[in-house]
Amino acid sequence: MTMDLGNSKRGQELRDKVRAFIDDRVLPLEEEYHSEIGKNGDRFEFTARMTEILETLKSEAREAGLWNFWLTDSERGYGLSTVEYAYLAEEMGRSHLAAEAFNCSAPDTGNMEVIERYGTQAHKDKWLAPLLEGKIRSAYLMTEPDVASSDATNISLSAVRDGDTYVLNGEKYWASGAGDPRAKIFIVMVKTGDDDAPRHQRHSMILVERDTPGMEILRPMMVFGHDDAPHGHMHIRFTDVRVPADNLILGEGRGFEISQGRLGPGRIHHCMRSIGAAERALELLCKRATTREAFGRPLAKLGANYDIIAEARIEIEMARLLCLKAAHMMDTIGTQAAQPYISQIKVVAPRMALNVIDEAMQMHGGTGISQDTPLWAMWHGQRTLRFADGPDAVHRMVVARTELKKYRSNSV
Ligand SMILES: Cc1cc2nc3c(=O)[nH]c(=O)nc-3n(C[C@H](O)[C@H](O)[C@H](O)COP(=O)(O)OP(=O)(O)OC[C@H]3O[C@@H](n4cnc5c(N)ncnc54)[C@H](O)[C@@H]3O)c2cc1C
Repeated sequence: MTMDLGNSKRGQELRDKVRAFIDDRVLPLEEEYHSEIGKNGDRFEFTARMTEILETLKSEAREAGLWNFWLTDSERGYGLSTVEYAYLAEEMGRSHLAAEAFNCSAPDTGNMEVIERYGTQAHKDKWLAPLLEGKIRSAYLMTEPDVASSDATNISLSAVRDGDTYVLNGEKYWASGAGDPRAKIFIVMVKTGDDDAPRHQRHSMILVERDTPGMEILRPMMVFGHDDAPHGHMHIRFTDVRVPADNLILGEGRGFEISQGRLGPGRIHHCMRSIGAAERALELLCKRATTREAFGRPLAKLGANYDIIAEARIEIEMARLLCLKAAHMMDTIGTQAAQPYISQIKVVAPRMALNVIDEAMQMHGGTGISQDTPLWAMWHGQRTLRFADGPDAVHRMVVARTELKKYRSNSV
């Protein structure tokens, strides 16, 4: 099998534009955006300046034709391949604000993918259209506090049919993006089948509008003591929440079918951005190492710092190639069959980025873990990724099972 992991001409042109836009427009506004958070008194409320920054970036990106790249292999988007998108997402990973500027941010891309691929025309008109326009945002609610959610067959939030509605009861937490008041629609994994049904046919996905009566945001979950406002990872209680039965996606018992479709692209998009985050960390590391002196020499020339820089570059290159291979497999054999490749990069990318960010922090001395660089937030984001969209151990299980299948008739 030939494997072309290079960028196409059209992809390269888009990448140059995306990179220039991030350098010229996004990076200079990052610090100001973050300094605005909480100025209204509520950290989950947008100040006028935050809205202005985001909306200006979005309209400029859109006018420049840099919008909705993520919808790969679809007539509605750019029609990019996953490999082509990987190069763009990597650029977006360099800044916390960039993905949203191009309407390519998590969890919206995964959620839009679900509605586009599995939703009815009514779902598309009501929610996909404003999501594609960047007018609203969304959240994906699967994880629950009381069950080990890395095994999604444990999900217990119940949805019971009552006439034209489903009645939802239970709790979800770590609902990323649900703190953002612009997140108007939540895709919720619910249990519709009883325990007699096969394990992978007991669950469904349903669209729930923000502020439906009975939904209560209990608290933001803290990541190392930080609320990640205004995005937020919310703990939400559902008490007799009535949702129109038409909001069910694809049908009862088909939740796992959808999550396979959703999580493949969503996961690899995270990994592509991780590589961009590592690139930015290495850039910051090198700039610091060449502009600051100790013991009469630039930091770069002290101790083992050459080795540290070289190892970082080598690790990034290895991860990028693995990510591109997974993207290529998605393009050629499909998301489902490419799962073991996606799992490989899902383990490698955040781990690699964490190493590089950690070395960049070290090269900055105390400044490296302070508010004066973006490194702390990048580290939080990457550490989080070792859980979000499946913890490392579960992805290793997928890889090992695939490997062992070659040697046994039954998987172990
Ligand atoms: C910042 C952040 C954002 C998140 N955003 C979202 C979101 O938007 N929506 C959402 O639904 N969820 C989200 N999550 C939740 C995340 O997906 C879950 O934390 C993850 O799926 C693990 O579930 P759990 O926390 O219940 O861990 P458990 O299922 O309790 O697992 C705990 C640990 O057990 C071990 N383990 C589990 N399975 C295996 C195995 N097969 N082999 C070996 N060891 C194993 C692993 O070490 C694992 O980390 C987010 C999490 C974080 C931290």
